[in-house]
Amino acid sequence: MMRKQIAAANWKMNLSLQQGEQLINDLLSKPHDLKENQLAVFAVPAPYLMMAQEKMGTKNRVAVAAQNCYSKKSGAYTGEISVEMLNSIGVKYVVLGHSERREYFNESNQFLAEKIDISLSHHITPIFCCGEPLQIREEGTQNAYVAAQLKESLFHLTSAQLVNVVIAYEPIWAIGTGKTASSDQAQEMHAFIRAELAHVYGKETADQISILYGGSVKANNAVELFSQPDVDGGLVGGASLIADEFVAIINALK
Ligand code: PEP
Repeated sequence: MMRKQIAAANWKMNLSLQQGEQLINDLLSKPHDLKENQLAVFAVPAPYLMMAQEKMGTKNRVAVAAQNCYSKKSGAYTGEISVEMLNSIGVKYVVLGHSERREYFNESNQFLAEKIDISLSHHITPIFCCGEPLQIREEGTQNAYVAAQLKESLFHLTSAQLVNVVIAYEPIWAIGTGKTASSDQAQEMHAFIRAELAHVYGKETADQISILYGGSVKANNAVELFSQPDVDGGLVGGASLIADEFVAIINALK
């Protein structure tokens, strides 16, 4: 099976409903050629999920994602979003473990494992984010750091479950900083992640997993990053808020 090449937009906490609608209208009106193995995913703020779902839910090769969900099915968890709620509006993807969630909301690898489990049990594909802070990169221990994130949040899964996970490698020092990992640095870590997956689940399973790169992906660096053999697209923040930029990023997919 050929793994999917994915351009994922992460709007974060930006835009009004009207601006969000306008951005989706602009994106849908621009020519893009998503091939059979390619997908564009839009992680929009929770209040806009239904709007995005109405505009894109029936389109091929386009999907809507939540930016987060909670680890419990339902109940007294004021302010949280459940996977059952996402199911009920047809949302099929959720971003989990973004570095901003880890940093500002103290989400641990163990807590994320619970979110991964509940998402998969409700047929929602997690886009699981991992990646090291600058200090770890400077110490040169990024491989061990990312390996622990994978182990503690994902490696309890069966391979039948794991193939329904998308991984996004996002070095924290490259997020929103304008500092992109070089395509060699990205490829090196992506190959390492795939080797870790292969070590636990075998090569055939590892080869099915899409591993996205995130960290200041722009129209002008996407082709080079995505052309690396183990880079299967990108998770894009800032540049996903500009229709022309994001369409160019979609068109840079392999
Ligand atoms: C992100 O939020 O996942 C991200 C990579 O942001 P940016 O593209 O703005 O660096």
